[in-house]
Formats: sequence, C-alpha cells, structure tokens
Amino acid sequence: MKDLVKKDLKYIWHPCSQMKDYEELPPIVIEKGEGCYLYDTNGKEYLDCISSWWTSTLGHSNKRINEAIKSQIDNIEHVIFANFTNKPAIELAEKLVSITPERLTKVYFSDNGSSAVEIALKMSFHYHQQRGHKNKKRFLAILDAYHGETLGALSVGDLDLYSKIYKPLLLDTIRSEGPDCYRCKYNKNREECSAECFEHIENIVKNKHDEICSIIIEPMVQGAAGMKIYSPIYLKKLRELCDKYNIHLIADEIAMGFGRTGKMFACEHAGISPDLMCLSKGLTAGYMPMSVVMTSEDIYNEFYGDYSELRAFLHSHTYAGNAMASAIALENLKIFEEDNILEKSKEKGKLIKKLTLEKAKDNPFIGEVRSIGMITAIELVKNKETKESFNWKDRVGYSIYKIALEKGLLLRPLGNVLYFIPPHTIEEKDIKIMINKCFESISEFFYNYR
Ligand SMILES: *Cc1c(COP(=O)(O)O)cnc(C)c1O
Repeated sequence: MKDLVKKDLKYIWHPCSQMKDYEELPPIVIEKGEGCYLYDTNGKEYLDCISSWWTSTLGHSNKRINEAIKSQIDNIEHVIFANFTNKPAIELAEKLVSITPERLTKVYFSDNGSSAVEIALKMSFHYHQQRGHKNKKRFLAILDAYHGETLGALSVGDLDLYSKIYKPLLLDTIRSEGPDCYRCKYNKNREECSAECFEHIENIVKNKHDEICSIIIEPMVQGAAGMKIYSPIYLKKLRELCDKYNIHLIADEIAMGFGRTGKMFACEHAGISPDLMCLSKGLTAGYMPMSVVMTSEDIYNEFYGDYSELRAFLHSHTYAGNAMASAIALENLKIFEEDNILEKSKEKGKLIKKLTLEKAKDNPFIGEVRSIGMITAIELVKNKETKESFNWKDRVGYSIYKIALEKGLLLRPLGNVLYFIPPHTIEEKDIKIMINKCFESISEFFYNYR
C-alpha cells in the first residue's frame, strides 16, 4: 500500500480535497468492493455509509450488473450519438420516460451531473429566447443550493466554499431565501408547516418574472448543504408559481433520484412534474459516469424545425448515450423493479432513523436528526438551545470522519452534518454496525472536546 500511496500523491490531485490534509491522512487504496463494504490493499474493510458519494445504490460489485457489463462489452462499447444510436440507450430512454413524472417525454444524454445542469439551463434560456421572451435571461435559485462545479452550475449554486472565489466569473443568478426547517424563522414544526417561507420566492417572482427563464431546485432535500429536508408543499407551490409566470421548473434530482427519498424521484412527494429534470449519480448504480436531462414535449418542439431555421440545440458531449453506461443503467432499473428495492429500502430507512434517534437522544451536541427515505442526517451544534453551529474551521465533522475511518466506517460528513445514505441493499446487521460505530466516533470526539 505504501508504494501506491506514494505514487498517488506524486501524480494525483484529488477532488474536493486540501491536498495538504493527505500528509496526515493519506488516500486509502481500495482494491475490492462487495455489497456495502470496501476493502483496501491491506485487507481492512470499510462500511460505505455514503454509497461512495451517493452513487452506489445497489452496493459494490453487484453480480447482475457485472454480468450485464460482460454481455454488453462483446457487442458495442460506444458509438457516436449524432445520427447513430444503440439498443441499450434506446431501451433506457423508453424506460426513463415511463418511470419519471408525466410531463417528461424526451431524454437528452450526457456524462456527469454538472453537465446535465448546464444543459437544462441552456435549454431553458434558449427556449425563451426563441419564443421571443428576450428579457427572460436569468435563473432563480435558493440559498444553500448545490448544482455542481462547472461555471454555469456554480452560478446557480450557493455554497460559498465552492463558489466564492469564482464570483467574478459567474452568471447573475437571482437568489431567494429557501426553506430552512431546522432554523425555521416562522417557528413552525414540521407537522404544522405549510411552507410559509415560500413567500420570499413568491415575492421575488412577482416582481421579476419577466427576467426569469427558470427556477432550479433540489427537490425535497438540499444534499450538499447538509441534507436539509423540506416540505413537499414548497414544491407544490413552486410548480404553481412557475406555471403562472411562464417559468420553467428545473428539478435537480441528481442526488435524490433513484429511491433515495423513499420515492423513485423526489418530485413524487409533491406529485409534481418539472419541465426539466436532471439525473445522474444513482442512474448507473455508481458504475459509470452518465447523466440525462429529461424534458417536456413543449420544450423539445421549440427546437424542432428545418435546419435553416437555426433552432436546433447543438450542445454535445462526446460520450453522450454511451452504450456501456446505458446497459448498466438499464440493468440497474430492472433490479430495482424485480427485487422490489424501493419497498424494501423503506423499512431499512425507518430502522436507520429509529436507531439514530435512540442514540442521539441525550447527546448535548446533536441539534437535530432529520430523515427521509434512506437518508438520515445528524446536525452537530455547539449549543442545542441557540442552535449555534460549530465554526467550520474547527472541522468537527472532519475529525469524526477520521475517527470513524479507524473503525472501518466511511462517513464523509458535510461540514458539521453527519449523514447516512448507504446502498439500498444494506442489511440489518450492517445498519446496526454503521450506527454503533458512528456514535462511538461521535462520543470519542466529544470526550476529548470537553
Ligand atoms: C453531485 C451533484 C451534482 C453534480 O454532479 P457531478 O457529476 O458531480 O458533476 C449536481 N447537483 C446535485 C444535486 C448533486 O448532488
């Protein structure tokens, strides 16, 4: 392992990392994965509580998907997607149209989440330009949003950590306050809430709707912001508002799609259809990069015409419609249906929530446990009464992450928020291990903290 690590650090610049941290905590070389477990080159095992950045919905090295890859590879790995197509991509598109909300009838392929967000933004802007809504040039997004790292995606995102330095390069996005349920200004508990906070976005849209081409949102859960869960009522109101003012609603389901919230797509909680929907992460069960933008007949038709009319959407990515990734995604969706993954994961999600709540009960540093579907998050706070956060520079989450790693748990907190988003296939015994070790790590950290 040592030689590999040395070479890694010599040649590789890792994502989302301060590389200096690797002096103290070098990268762990994973040799093998199976189900919820990863194994490093020394044979040490790690329980993957976060599905390797929210992708691995069915666990690592899934037998059926492995077989699907083997049978696809002997046919075709990849083929140009302009004027050519391939069977897995066609079947996947048909399947996606059948399982996503009804307004979505067309599938535009790409290869990562940020690209999907760029595509959705460009399509919406382009649509309105062609329709003659020349002033509809701006996007609206809410506070704490995360939509990816490319410049367009960063522009609609709102996490300073990722975007602050690039502000001079970014689009002039209109920003509204969004739901902030743990620190709700209206002092509502979740049962009483009727999304009173919606008035912010409503007022902005009333005043500026002729400048706005679309509103982009992560439905139900703001993932990167710390798994901030909000009411479906907010989404319902948002759909109505967008309809009223001729604004597209872009649902960024990149993280929450494919069952994470207990429904196949998070929009289903509110019973709404967006105009554009971005999918990636769980689409290929963590096997290969792929993303899609699903869109409506109305948007598609706006781009349909004779070549000389110059109304085509000429955006492209080389690996669009990749046959291998499509075959994997297709098998993933088959497994979801045949193995009843969604139904089974509901029970598991409930168990994770229950056990977490039990353990968290008397901990003075746990401000909130919040949960939806397969996601349970623990927000650590300095003061439970005032809900004061730890300073991000204290790196509380990161310290607990390191302790947990020693115990064979891959946690990767978001700032001061620890969370579980394990593969849907996790077993009960591993759920217990996950929660026990996580709370041992929390206790150890705070024992020294006081
Ligand atoms: C991960 C994520 C993205 C970006 O996807 P990449 O593949 O990392 O570019 C966009 N939006 C949301 C909600 C995400 O969770």
